[in-house]
Amino acid sequence: MNKKINVQIQEQVRKRALELCEYCHASEKWQYVLFTVDHVIPLSKSGQDTIENLALACFHCNRKKSNHTTATDPESNQEVPLFNPRKQKWNEHFIWSKDTLKILGITPIGKATIAKLDLNRERIINIRAADKTINRHPPPADPISS
Ligand SMILES: [Zn+2]
Repeated sequence: MNKKINVQIQEQVRKRALELCEYCHASEKWQYVLFTVDHVIPLSKSGQDTIENLALACFHCNRKKSNHTTATDPESNQEVPLFNPRKQKWNEHFIWSKDTLKILGITPIGKATIAKLDLNRERIINIRAADKTINRHPPPADPISS
C-alpha cells in the first residue's frame, strides 16, 4: 500500500470495488486486515495516484502484480496486457469454474493474468471452498462456467 494515498480516496476505491480484490475477487469483508490499494499502472511506469489508476487488491495479488503491466498468455505464449480493472470488466475476461473454486480465463488477458497473479493458488482455493459452505463465495454478480 502506498501510504501517500489519502484515506478518503482509499475509501472510494474500497467502495467502488465492493470490497473485493479486483483481481482474484476475494472479499475483504472477512479478512482481519484491509486489502491494499494498487496502482494499476505502477508509479514507476508513470501511473498516477488518482482514483482512475487505483484498484483494491489483496496482498497476494498486489505482491504478484508488483510493477508488471503485461504477462504471457500460457496458450499462445504471447505477451499481453494484464487485466486492467479500470478499463476492463472482470466478467469479460474471467468466469468461475463450475464448482466455483477456480477462476477460468476466457481471453488471453484473463489467462495471462491468472498465470501471473497465481489467481488459483492452493491457499485461496481452500478459502473459496470454506467460504462456499457458508454462502460467502462466489461474489453474487460473477458468472459461473456452465
Ligand atoms: Zn487478490
